[in-house]
Amino acid sequence: MYQAPRGTQDILPEEQPYLRFVEVKASELCARYGYERIDTPVFEDARLFTRSVGAETDIVAKEMYTFADRGGDELTLRPEGTAPVCRAYLEHGMATRTKPVKLYYITPIFRYDRPQAGRYRQHHQFGFEAIGEADPAIDAEVIDMAWRFYGLLGIGELTLQLNSIGCSACRSTYLDALRSYYAVHLAILCDDCTERQVRNPLRLLDCKRPGCQALAEAAPKSIDYLCPECRAHFEKLTHYLGRLKLPYAVNHRLVRGLDYYTRTVFEVQPLSEGAQSTLGGGGRYDGLIEALGGPPTPALGFATGIERIIINLKKQGVKIPEARRPDVFIAHIGKAAQDEAVALAARLRLSGIGVLQSYGERSLKAQLRQAGSLGVRYALITGDDEVNSGSVIRRDMTTSEQIIVPLADVERSLGAQSG
Ligand code: AMP
Repeated sequence: MYQAPRGTQDILPEEQPYLRFVEVKASELCARYGYERIDTPVFEDARLFTRSVGAETDIVAKEMYTFADRGGDELTLRPEGTAPVCRAYLEHGMATRTKPVKLYYITPIFRYDRPQAGRYRQHHQFGFEAIGEADPAIDAEVIDMAWRFYGLLGIGELTLQLNSIGCSACRSTYLDALRSYYAVHLAILCDDCTERQVRNPLRLLDCKRPGCQALAEAAPKSIDYLCPECRAHFEKLTHYLGRLKLPYAVNHRLVRGLDYYTRTVFEVQPLSEGAQSTLGGGGRYDGLIEALGGPPTPALGFATGIERIIINLKKQGVKIPEARRPDVFIAHIGKAAQDEAVALAARLRLSGIGVLQSYGERSLKAQLRQAGSLGVRYALITGDDEVNSGSVIRRDMTTSEQIIVPLADVERSLGAQSG
C-alpha cells in the first residue's frame, strides 16, 4: 500500500472547514489593512533562495527540495514565501506602483525537516509583505496586523516577542562581540554551535540545547550595538507599539533563521510552549530586493503556519463554521421515477439548492435510512403515482411529516430553508 510521503499529510474533508476558516479570516484581515493576494509558482530557480535566504541557513543548507528538471534547470520547491514575492515584485515592475506595495499569499511550503508534531515536510503558510516603506510606523502596523490575526481567529494565550538585529553597518560590530564572547566558551558549545560560531554566529542565540541556552542568555545583546539610525528606528517602533497597546516583550535571543532580516524581527508564540512551537514570525528585510538585483528597497513581512494555527484552534476549542452540506435527498421507487429524480436533482441544483440523489434500485426504507445518515433536512420521494400526477412527496427528516408538492412548486417548498 502506498502512503503519503513522510512528513506530509492528506487534508481530509472533515479537516477542510478549519483550513477554510483560516483562509477566510486571512482574507478579511488583508482587506482591512489593504493587502492584495499574489500567487507565485510552487517551484523557483534554486538560486533565488540560495542567494537571498543565505547559504549558511538551515533552510538552504539542509532543508530544500532541489532537483534538476528534464531540461537541466535547478529548481527548488518553495521553502519560504518572501523571496518569491520579491522576485515577482521585481519581475513585474511593481516598483512603479504606489508604495508600499502590500501583497499576501496562502501557499504550501516544503522543507526537508525532521517530522514531529507541528513540524512537517509540507506545510502551509499565510504570509504578507509590505514593500517600499522604511517608516517604523509600518513595522508597528505589520506587527499589529500579525497580532490581531490570532485575535480574529479566536486564539489566545500568546506572547509577542520583539528584537532588532540592526543593519549591515552595525551588525558586523555586534557579530564581532558575539564571536569574542563565545570564543572563551568553545569547549562547552554543542557541535552545531561550534560550527555556527564561525559561519553564522547570530544563530548561536537560538540554539535549543540547555547548555547553549544558558550561554545565549548572558550573551551580548544586539540592541546594545545598534547604530544611531537603527536605534532611532527601534525606539520609534516601540513608541508606536505602546500607542497600539500591544503586549510585546523584547527578547534579545530572537534572531530569526534567515539571513535577509534587518532591524525589526518578531515572533508570536504560544504562552505554554514558547519558541519550539512558534506560530508565526517576521521582520524587516531592507537588503533583500537589492540582493535579488533590484534597487535598494525597504520592506518587511510576516508569515504564520496554518497547521500550527489549526492545532491551536483545536486545543483552545474554538468553534468554527461547519461546511455547508446538501439539504435535500431524492429517493425514487422504480425506473420511471428514477428518470424523474435525475432531472429534478439537476433542476434544483441549477436553482442553487444542494441535492444528493439515490442510485440503483433499493427499498424506500433503505433510501430513507441513507437520507437520515446524510443529515439532510428533506427527502423528496418519487414513485409511479407521483410521476403520473406530476408531483413529489416532501418528507421532513426531523418530524417525519410528509406532504405532496406539485413538481412546479418544489423549489418554493424547499426555498426558505435550502436556498
Ligand atoms: P518561518 O518561515 O520558519 O518563520 O515559518 C513561519 C511559520 O511557519 C512558523 O512560525 C510556523 O508556524 C510555520 N512552520 C515553519 N516550519 C514549519 C514546518 N516544518 N511544519 C509546520 N509548520 C511550520
